[in-house]
Amino acid sequence: MDRSETLIIGGGNAGISLAAKLLRDGASGVTVVAPQPLHRYKPLLNYVGGGEATMADLERPMADVVPDGCEWIRDSVDAVDAAASTVHTRAGRTLRYSALVLCPGLEEDWAATPGLQEAYADGWAASTYVPGSTPQVWPRLSSLRSGSVVFTVPPEPASCGPTALKPLLMACDHWRRRGVLADLEVRLLLPGTTATGVPRADEVLEAAFADYGVEVLRESRVERVDPDVHAITVASPTGPRVLDDVAFAHAVPRYRAPRWIADSGLAADADPGLVDVDPSTLQHRRHESVWGLGDAAELRTRPSGGALRKQVAVLSANLAAARDGGRLQRYDGYTVVPITVSRRKLMLAESDRDGRLTPSVPFVDPITPRRVTWWADRHALPQVYWRRILRGRI
Ligand SMILES: Cc1cc2nc3c(=O)[nH]c(=O)nc-3n(C[C@H](O)[C@H](O)[C@H](O)COP(=O)(O)OP(=O)(O)OC[C@H]3O[C@@H](n4cnc5c(N)ncnc54)[C@H](O)[C@@H]3O)c2cc1C
Repeated sequence: MDRSETLIIGGGNAGISLAAKLLRDGASGVTVVAPQPLHRYKPLLNYVGGGEATMADLERPMADVVPDGCEWIRDSVDAVDAAASTVHTRAGRTLRYSALVLCPGLEEDWAATPGLQEAYADGWAASTYVPGSTPQVWPRLSSLRSGSVVFTVPPEPASCGPTALKPLLMACDHWRRRGVLADLEVRLLLPGTTATGVPRADEVLEAAFADYGVEVLRESRVERVDPDVHAITVASPTGPRVLDDVAFAHAVPRYRAPRWIADSGLAADADPGLVDVDPSTLQHRRHESVWGLGDAAELRTRPSGGALRKQVAVLSANLAAARDGGRLQRYDGYTVVPITVSRRKLMLAESDRDGRLTPSVPFVDPITPRRVTWWADRHALPQVYWRRILRGRI
């Protein structure tokens, strides 16, 4: 039976950056289990949806991002036996570990929205959140001249959900420049009363929605879609409402954690099944050699790549502390939501777990939309991601 000192499940932003950080800090016996041949820098998906990037800009072969000194097992985990400190894979392998880190991200819960998967197959719905459909988003949005278009922000758990506003606001700016915005009926479904829950960021966004004439449906979710007649049934506190004749739906699916986490007794609830960790230390509440990281962990903050920069530092220190009998560090729930309010201006809502602003650059108000912040998000951060974050240098 294979044995690892630290076994990491998932080769996304969380898994690769943690593996690299551990190795940089001198650890050995680090293994990553990840099935996909490709690694994606997901924040650029929204720029593909806004016509400002291509899929090739955000994809790298997995083999190029797995750090030197880390074993990569190209397989999927389908069960964990925490009492026996073993993991079972789809290919039938049993892997033994001293410390286990679960970071398999979230997966689409298509069953939660009847009709939506068919709508994606049909091409009438697509989104930046479903990479197979993302290349269709900008051609569909940019060719609209009239009619009704619907966007959604996914309810939690979701991966940095409010960034789904990026394609909406970039498209509105494009439509205005083309002189067709007034002929389009643009609707946005928000799961909450406001877009981010960070009051200053919400003020900026509300002004942008009003300026572009976006009709905002609050505390609203897609209940079902009917791709045959291009209709969306929306559930809201005032009752169901049917949106007919929708020309294109940028409808993001619902998300949940992979089911094997709950089936292995490691989730707080069966649904959405996130890894049941202490949100400060990232250690599992019942199994001390199990840890959670990234989108799949119940960290009581909005999941984001920016949040991972802090989580990885805390978890890497805590794995060493747990091994050597030291004190565990604490993660304050820092997270960030970057949103383009026009084609070339971006605001950053950086906050802690309670929605209090926690700007990382002193003396610069990140909420004010700026071209330089857009440029940093579109061009500089991807380089920082490939060269520093995935190499454990941050
Ligand atoms: C469209 C979009 C835009 C975003 N924009 C931003 C942004 O602008 N700024 C920001 O900070 N964040 C953004 N995010 C969020 C950020 O990308 C995520 O928070 C981050 O990628 C989460 O990393 P993760 O490793 O936890 O999960 P993922 O990136 O989902 O990686 C999970 C990995 O686990 C693997 N896996 C799944 N199941 C198994 C299994 N059974 N066994 C083994 N491996 C498995 C998967 O193949 C995958 O490689 C965005 C996300 C999306 C989707």
